[in-house]
Amino acid sequence: MELILNKSVQGRKGIMFPPLDVPRAKKLNEKYLREHDAELPSVSEPEVVRHFTNLSRQNFGVDSNFYPLGSCTMKYNPKFTERVASGERFTSLHPLAPQLAEGARFTQGALEVVSNLEGALSKITGMDAFTTQPAAGAHGELTGVMLIAAYHRQKENKKKHILIPDSGHGTNPATAAIAGYTVKTIPSDDNGVMDIDEFKRLLNKDTAAVMLTCPNTLGVFNPRVKEISHLAHEAGALMYYDGANLNAILGKVRPGDLGFDVVHLNLHKTFATPHGGGGPGSGPVGVKKELIPFLPIPRIRKTKKKMFELDFEEPLSIGYISPFYGNFAVMLKAYAYILLLGKNGLVEVSENAVLNANYLKHHLSKHYETPYSKNCLHEFVISASRQAKKGVRAIDIAKALIDEGIHPPTVYFPLIVKEAMMIEPTETESKETLDKFIEVMVNLARLAESNPKIFKTFPKTTPVNRLDEVKAAKDMNIAG
Ligand SMILES: *Cc1c(COP(=O)(O)O)cnc(C)c1O
Repeated sequence: MELILNKSVQGRKGIMFPPLDVPRAKKLNEKYLREHDAELPSVSEPEVVRHFTNLSRQNFGVDSNFYPLGSCTMKYNPKFTERVASGERFTSLHPLAPQLAEGARFTQGALEVVSNLEGALSKITGMDAFTTQPAAGAHGELTGVMLIAAYHRQKENKKKHILIPDSGHGTNPATAAIAGYTVKTIPSDDNGVMDIDEFKRLLNKDTAAVMLTCPNTLGVFNPRVKEISHLAHEAGALMYYDGANLNAILGKVRPGDLGFDVVHLNLHKTFATPHGGGGPGSGPVGVKKELIPFLPIPRIRKTKKKMFELDFEEPLSIGYISPFYGNFAVMLKAYAYILLLGKNGLVEVSENAVLNANYLKHHLSKHYETPYSKNCLHEFVISASRQAKKGVRAIDIAKALIDEGIHPPTVYFPLIVKEAMMIEPTETESKETLDKFIEVMVNLARLAESNPKIFKTFPKTTPVNRLDEVKAAKDMNIAG
C-alpha cells in the first residue's frame, strides 16, 4: 500500500489548531531548534481515516474470523475485561506511585488485585505461590528455570542438563540453553507422548529438571506423568510444567497435584488477553514452597496492619526480572476474567475447548492423515501427507485457507509430524463456525485430488501473494 507520505500535497491540512493562548517564546536556545522541518504528511482528515482503515483491513484477527492457530489459543476475549482494564482509576495510576509502608495506601487497590490474582492462579494450578512479573511465556520459562538453577545452587547440587521431549515448544530448549544447561531431547513414542524408556535412560543425577507440556503440542495428555514426576524427584531433578495452553485442563487437573514444582502460564492465551501482535503479555510463574525463597523481587506481602506492600528483602531471590511488577493491564484482565467465569465457568472453558477440538478432529480425519488418532485435548495435529503425494503441501492448504477468509493453522510444527497442520479451535467458536471450517477443509482435500496445480496460485485475495518467507522476515521493506 502507498505510504501516507506519498499522498502529501503541500498546504493540505487535516486539523485546525486552537488559537495560541500562551505567550510566544521570545527566543529559544539555538540548540533546541530543528534543522529541518519534520517530515509530516500534509493530508486531509478523510485521507488519514481511509489510509488507516484500509491498513487495518489488511490485518487478520480473531475479531475478523476463525483463527485455529495451534498452540496459540487465538480465542475471542470478552470486551468486558478490556473495559475493566481501561478503568480510569487503574490507567491513571502512576507506575512510580508509592508501594511501600505508609505510602502504599495510594496503591492498595492495584496491589490487592495482583495479590488476589496470584492467589487465584495458585489455586487453579495447585501451586503454593505465584509471581505475575514475567512479561511473556518464554520470559516465564526463563524465570522458572532460573528458579530451578537457584534451588540446585543453594543445595550445592551439581546439575548439567534438562530433559525435554521432542514435541516441546521451541522456547523450552532455548530457555534451558540460555539458563546455562545442556538440553537432552527425548523422542516421542507411537502414542505421541515422551518415550518412557528413553526418559529412564537419560535421567540421572546430572538432570536439573524435566520440562513437560501436558497435554503436549499434539494435544495428548501423558497418562504416566505422575510416574515421571516420581522418577524425576528420585533422581533429584525438579519438574517444570509448560502451562502456556492451560485451557485444556482448566478446572479439571492441577499441575501441582501431578508433581510439578514450577509452572508458567500464558495469561495472553488462556486468560483474556489476545496472543500475538507482539504483546503486551504476561507469563506468571507458580512454584511449590521449597522454591518460594528464590522468587523474583519484589514480592507482594500483606502486613500486620492488613496493608499490601512490596517487599524487596529476599536474600535468596533470583533478583529483578521485570520493571514495575510486569504488565499490570494484562493482570487486571485475567483477574476480571477469572471472577467473571468463576469455578464452573473455568471448567466449561476446558470442556468446550476439548469438545470443539475433538469435533474437528473427528470430521477432518476422514480426509487428512491423522498420525495420533486417539482423542485429543484442546488441539490436534493432522498431516497433509496424503495431499503432498499430489504436490499439495501443508503450506499450500494454508495459503488456500487465507482466500476462504480463515486464518491457517500452525504448519510444520511440531517437527515430528511431516506436513503438520496443528489445529486449535478454542472454546469460543460456535458449531456453525466449526462446520464451515470442516466444509472448507473437505473441499480443499477434494480440490487437491482434482486440481492440485491450482494451489500454487493461492492466495489470490491478499495484498501480497506468495512471499519469499525468509526475505519477508528479514527484509521487511514491501513499499515497492
Ligand atoms: C506460546 C507458547 C510458549 C511461549 O509463549 P510466548 O508468550 O510466545 O513467549 C511456550 N510454550 C508453549 C507450549 C506455547 O504454546
